[in-house]
Amino acid sequence: MKRNPAEHAPPADAGARRAVGPVICYPVETLPAPDLAAYRAAREAWRKTGEVLVPARDAASFTVPAGHFFRITSVEGPQVGDLNLWNANNLAERFYSGKTRALHGTHLSTGDRMWTSHPHLRPMATITDDTLDWYGFDGFGGAVHDVIGTRCDPYTHNLLSHGGQYHHCCHSNLTRALADARGLPLAEAEGYVHDVLNVFMCTGFTRSTGQYFMKASPVRPGDYLEFFAEIDLLGALSACPGGDCSSEHSSDAAACYPMLVEIFAPKAPPAGWAPPPLNGYDQSHGR
Ligand SMILES: [Zn+2]
Repeated sequence: MKRNPAEHAPPADAGARRAVGPVICYPVETLPAPDLAAYRAAREAWRKTGEVLVPARDAASFTVPAGHFFRITSVEGPQVGDLNLWNANNLAERFYSGKTRALHGTHLSTGDRMWTSHPHLRPMATITDDTLDWYGFDGFGGAVHDVIGTRCDPYTHNLLSHGGQYHHCCHSNLTRALADARGLPLAEAEGYVHDVLNVFMCTGFTRSTGQYFMKASPVRPGDYLEFFAEIDLLGALSACPGGDCSSEHSSDAAACYPMLVEIFAPKAPPAGWAPPPLNGYDQSHGR
């Protein structure tokens, strides 16, 4: 956080320096754009091929073949979900929260894509529908589906609580789900767990201190976030122990509900769609 008051006096031209206008770091207009109309047309004759009910305060895994869709739906009560995605054929290629944030902003919605880690850096999923898109940004600067948080984890909890041991943080839930999905030892699975897309979570940064905040999610049963799988995906979703994240997480105090993941196969892939190739950078790094 910024020191208040600051330790150093502002220079004479502080006002002018602060008044310089911002420039968007990554104008996304030149990125390969998804053809949303074609994606949506492909849903018309889709067929549901599977579903997973993620238990409250726990996680579950699922797979989605390239060219299929999946939907995460709120059931029973307001609940936040922490989503990890991997290339189903290579766990080293996984969701890159930081670059996705830099490209699309702090909170995702329809038309945004989830990008994979270096050196792959390609779209792994495209958001095709978001029933909470009406929420926008509220008066606190809060919005849903963030890529600014990481995932609640037992290590941070241990520090903040002076030694607490809590085993159902999203980090641990995702670790167990991946270990079970791939028959990996917990320690190996943990290394593949990464920063999440916070599905339905309502978050922002305070204007005064820039601190990460959360507030009760506006999600209600029936709301969903829908994705198109650009590559073969292995997913894991944790129903956060924070429930709707209105007060705290890393405990069993909050009301928690299950979440539904459904997989859909279109009759035919979206017109003109092809799985995205690996990133075109030659990886020579100037040598
Ligand atoms: Zn969590």
